[in-house]
Formats: sequence, structure tokens, C-alpha cells
Amino acid sequence: MSPKRISLIVLLLLLCFIVSVGVIGAQDDATPQGGTDSLDTVAGTPVPLPTQGARSAPVQVISGENARVNLFFANMGQGTIQLAQVEGQNVTSATASWLNHLIDFFPVEDEGLFGLLSVGMEQTPRRDYPLVITVVYADGSRETISTPIEIVLGGFIRQEVLLPPDKAYLLDAETERAELARLESIFVQTSSERKWDDTGFALPISAALTSPFGAFRVFNSTLNTRHTGWDIRCTIGTPVLASAAGRVVFAGTLPIRGNHVIIDHGMGVYSGYSHLSVVNVTRGQMVTKEQVIGMAGSTGRTSGPHFHWEIAVNGEWIDPVEFLRMWMP
Ligand SMILES: [Zn+2]
Repeated sequence: MSPKRISLIVLLLLLCFIVSVGVIGAQDDATPQGGTDSLDTVAGTPVPLPTQGARSAPVQVISGENARVNLFFANMGQGTIQLAQVEGQNVTSATASWLNHLIDFFPVEDEGLFGLLSVGMEQTPRRDYPLVITVVYADGSRETISTPIEIVLGGFIRQEVLLPPDKAYLLDAETERAELARLESIFVQTSSERKWDDTGFALPISAALTSPFGAFRVFNSTLNTRHTGWDIRCTIGTPVLASAAGRVVFAGTLPIRGNHVIIDHGMGVYSGYSHLSVVNVTRGQMVTKEQVIGMAGSTGRTSGPHFHWEIAVNGEWIDPVEFLRMWMP
């Protein structure tokens, strides 16, 4: 055999090896662990698991006569939350009027008061909205500090979802409306006490984030909805952990969310855990951060086993991943 022919064979073998490795890699992507969640392939590039961000300096400072408001953001996206801080001697409490919500600020030792401002995912973007903060002083006097806040486009994706025939009865706008109304009735019962601890919030399951928050979803080419949380890839039976300490305010079954748990973390922050196969907690129970509250499953409106995690603040769905990345007082 001539040296030329040997090098040609070596080259061909090398090519075969490269092609086979590529095919195996592609098969791994196409067959997600944990089954048939058709949404796994939609998101495309993997989302890095979120970790809590570092404390940042205020981006805007608005000075009143005896207090100042620090805003840790330049503008707000649809479906997000941001922090406002009130500092000043003799300040005893503060309340924000923001997008038709009245938001109580909570005290943090040596830091003054903090408030959580949320923006719903449907809020009309590309315009300014007034943020009006009322500060109350020890002598009973009040001061109002206000500023316009720009709301910017959330940048949500569109997804087609195919439900299996046995779940097609859940493609009903009235079922969806009734379930959301039930959740809203829970979210208005705001407890004015911060229940989470200094370590903030954590992912309920540390695994691949698949389908993003806010997506415009079309089910079986008929029902248009919005995705109220993030989906996480997992198998049935994966332990689901409480994102933070709080009180269980719902532990039961809903048509769309299936077996579902809601935890009230105080100050208008609620986390929801959907499609569970097993629920380990009951309504009224206090839970600690990362306590096992149930097992992942495929109950409710799912195209296969996966875990759905959602967070509402002041009655608005906000992006849980962005929430986790934010520094929390
Ligand atoms: Zn989901």
C-alpha cells in the first residue's frame, strides 16, 4: 500500500470518528433526561443556573427634605421586580404607590427600609409610570418623594406546545381564568413580615432550566396563554425544595398546575411549585429554606414530567430566575 493510500484511510477513519461523536452528542440533546417534556427543546441554549447577585450601589438617588430614596435599577422590564430603599433619620415607615399597588416597605437593620416593586408581564412597555413613596417620620409628619420609572419590553419568546389527547380537556380558557382567579385571591392576603432569611432564595430543583418565564404559549394550535414561571427538567420523584422560609398557604390540586404548593414568604412574595407527584406539606405549615415540600411529577396540564416554578410579588408574576439573581435584603 502506498503511503498516500494509507494517509487517505487514516483520514477517512478520522472523519468517521468525528461524525459518530457528533451524532451521539445530538442524540443526547434530543432525548432529554426525565422524559417527554416537549418544551425541553424550545429554549435552545442552556440557561446557567442562577446564583444570588452581589449587593450593588444605587443607580438613582432621589432626595427628599428629610429622607432619600435609593433605586437599584435604571428602568424595569415587564415581569420583573426591583428594590427601592428609604433612608433617613427618624423615618419610621414608608409605602409606595406603584402601578395600582400599595407596597409596604420592611425594615432591615442599619439599612433603613426596603420595598419590592414588581411589574406584571402584560404592563404596557416603552413609557414612564409614577412611583410615589410616602415616608412617615417619628413625629407623625409625612413626606412624599416621587419619580417616573420607565418600563421596558420583557423580550418574551413564543412557544408551540402539544398536549397529549388525555389532557386535551385542559385546553379551556375558562379553566385557566378560574385557576388564576383562585391564585390571585391567595396573593392579596399579604403578610407584612419578612419570612425569608439573609441567605435569600434558592432553586427548588438544581437542574436544567428549560422553558422560560413569560413565553407566549399556544397549546395544540388553539389556546393562547402566558407562561407564569420557569420549567426545570427532572424525573418523577425528584425532591422539590422550598425556595425560602415561609408559610404554606396552599397545598392541593388545581386543574392546570396539578398537585401544587404555594408558600407565603411575606411582604407580598409567594412561590408556587407545580405538577407534583407527591405533596409533603399541609396548609398553614411553616417551612424552612430548602425543606423538601414534595416530589416532582406530571400532574395537571403537562406534556410530560417536569417541574414548574413560579413567583408572584404584589400579585404580579415575575421572572423567578431574575429574582434569584437579584441581591435581596
Ligand atoms: Zn411551566
